[in-house]
Amino acid sequence: MNHPRRRWLQALACAALPWPLTAPATPHGAPHGPRPRIALIIDDLGHGLEAGLRTVRLPGRITVSVLPHTPHAVRLAEAARQVDQEVMLHLPMQPSVPGVPVGPGGIYLDTQRAELRETLDRALASVPHVLGVNNHMGSGVTRHPGLMLWLMEELADRQPLYWVDSRTTAETVAEQKALALQVPALRRDVFLDHEATPVAVARQFARLQVIAQARGSAVGIGHPYPVTLEFLERALPQLAAAGFELVTPGVLLGVGATV
Ligand SMILES: [Zn+2]
Repeated sequence: MNHPRRRWLQALACAALPWPLTAPATPHGAPHGPRPRIALIIDDLGHGLEAGLRTVRLPGRITVSVLPHTPHAVRLAEAARQVDQEVMLHLPMQPSVPGVPVGPGGIYLDTQRAELRETLDRALASVPHVLGVNNHMGSGVTRHPGLMLWLMEELADRQPLYWVDSRTTAETVAEQKALALQVPALRRDVFLDHEATPVAVARQFARLQVIAQARGSAVGIGHPYPVTLEFLERALPQLAAAGFELVTPGVLLGVGATV
């Protein structure tokens, strides 16, 4: 017998269930089928040792992208390698706003071909264990087809280095040029902390999961801000139970030694 009161109670019980924002998991945290994969890059590392080490020790497999020629670049890259975190070079590039300093090892709109090669060589030599490269700033340089062609020619010569387009401008041609030269390439889907507040970071992290669920994988970029690190320290250990796999760009692209 399905009494109206019982139906009302059933409806109330269903309404009280939390609405699942993430993939449903079995009680053992292992959902059926392939799990959506998330690659999380924390860049701008190299200046602050404490924040850098806290990033390296995040409770999950993340990727650190280190600015060249910075005081703690070598120590942080070595520390990352020791705990099997992937290391990238965070290559500074000129933004579209003129006069903004990008730091040492930067590529500018007037950088010449040979100069670009030397800049990249020196930058790579200043950060050990690099498997891939992404741009720091660069809204001016990454939309420049000639400069991006030169850069990708250099990366192609240094296979299996991969490229991740930070997409600091919608007009970037970096990923397109990388793929044209068969450089393994990904693009950033979500910036975690463009707005560095706990609410905004949580919202962006949820967005990253939605994209990963829809497409099978997603790439997020964050920074070693206290708000980001605090959030990730709590959120990363829950990702597997929510049905996601935390991987590196190298794993997504099938390149590198840390697969
Ligand atoms: Zn940056």
